[in-house]
Amino acid sequence: MATSWQSACEDCRQGYGGSLKVNNHFDFMIAGQGLAGCLLARRLRQDGASCVLVGKSIPKAATPVAAGIMNPITGKRLAKSWRTEPYLAEAKNFYRVMGKEWGETLLHEGHILRFPRNEKEIALFRKRKADPLYNPFLGAESPPCHWTAKGWTDKFGSYEIRGVSWVDLEKVASTIRREFQEQNIFREEYLEHKDLEMADDGIVWKDLHATCIVFCEGAKVLENPWFQFLPFGPSRGETLDLQGTKETTDFILQSRYWLLATEDGSLRAGSTYDHDGLEAGATSMGQQEILDGLAGFLSNDFSVIAQRCGIRPSTRDRLPVMGRHPKHPQIALFNGFGSKGATWAPSLAKHFASHLIERNELDQEVDLLRFNEGKPR
Ligand SMILES: Cc1cc2nc3c(=O)[nH]c(=O)nc-3n(C[C@H](O)[C@H](O)[C@H](O)COP(=O)(O)OP(=O)(O)OC[C@H]3O[C@@H](n4cnc5c(N)ncnc54)[C@H](O)[C@@H]3O)c2cc1C
Repeated sequence: MATSWQSACEDCRQGYGGSLKVNNHFDFMIAGQGLAGCLLARRLRQDGASCVLVGKSIPKAATPVAAGIMNPITGKRLAKSWRTEPYLAEAKNFYRVMGKEWGETLLHEGHILRFPRNEKEIALFRKRKADPLYNPFLGAESPPCHWTAKGWTDKFGSYEIRGVSWVDLEKVASTIRREFQEQNIFREEYLEHKDLEMADDGIVWKDLHATCIVFCEGAKVLENPWFQFLPFGPSRGETLDLQGTKETTDFILQSRYWLLATEDGSLRAGSTYDHDGLEAGATSMGQQEILDGLAGFLSNDFSVIAQRCGIRPSTRDRLPVMGRHPKHPQIALFNGFGSKGATWAPSLAKHFASHLIERNELDQEVDLLRFNEGKPR
């Protein structure tokens, strides 16, 4: 495949600066090995580009903490998430196919049983259910006290959110890292921005040269000197691994907080949202908040076996963000997956890879230039 980004680096292919070996040249270097970096790196290789993945897990990375829930209807407003229909369908298919390839069941499908917090919510549910755009995602409503025998508190009744799935995101990312490791194209290192050298035809980091580096740093983007103009609004979140009665494996129980029984028999619960205290780790307050939240609709006794804390890499407009740097086209970014990485990242990794490789037009809604006010597109 002959493309403009390849020919730009012909010098390098022949031995950059006379010192680098040809096999240290890559079309793309991906910095950050969470869900975003792993899915993008894998997609770039599938589409014919050479790629090296550089990354080291740091405390509060999002992927190991996420429950990987893909929920079409979220929040107090019971609103459909951005591009729910196409992205959810593509994500489900993506994890199903990848699971088959790896001989594992990655995708778990079911529904959410939601306990509304007040009368207003149940009224909103009924309104939404009557809307043909929402109806496919909203299931049966049950009256108050329907679940009393189970010990669940359903003072305002309950209802189902359908078309919900969940995926172990850390398993996805770690399996992709292993694939890269086996091919000697994964460097388990932290890339310090100051060690990156700009070349006319790309970038150099240590002994590696690439035509383009794509930063997939999650919330660490806040320290990236090239992308300070982007308005990130990350939030810290905590989840718990619990031991207790296993309620069910094919649906998630949810009110303000959720409880998910995973395939391996463990229970996960979450999650908190904190936009101000990003520097904190897992807190006793966070733990109590989740346990109190669960106690609002469950009578079970749980013991906490682990507590996790991560930072969701959200943007101010709550949409993902990607593209090449407006002044340095050899530097790009793929980020902003907030609390929707599981659903959004598969479709957008494919879209962004085609933009990077083929120079196909970038979707303006996710283009980082939407934040580059006053500059011509
Ligand atoms: C509590 C919580 C619950 C969540 N629940 C869900 C959910 O149910 N469903 C869902 O879809 N999403 C959920 N999410 C969000 C999901 O985790 C993210 O959307 C997704 O994981 C983001 O992936 P990422 O690769 O962009 O970031 P990260 O996972 O943070 O990965 C970035 C990685 O890059 C590394 N890195 C950063 N800078 C560098 C550098 N310079 N050099 C080398 N390595 C670097 C970091 O160490 C990190 O490992 C949740 C998040 C949290 C915190």
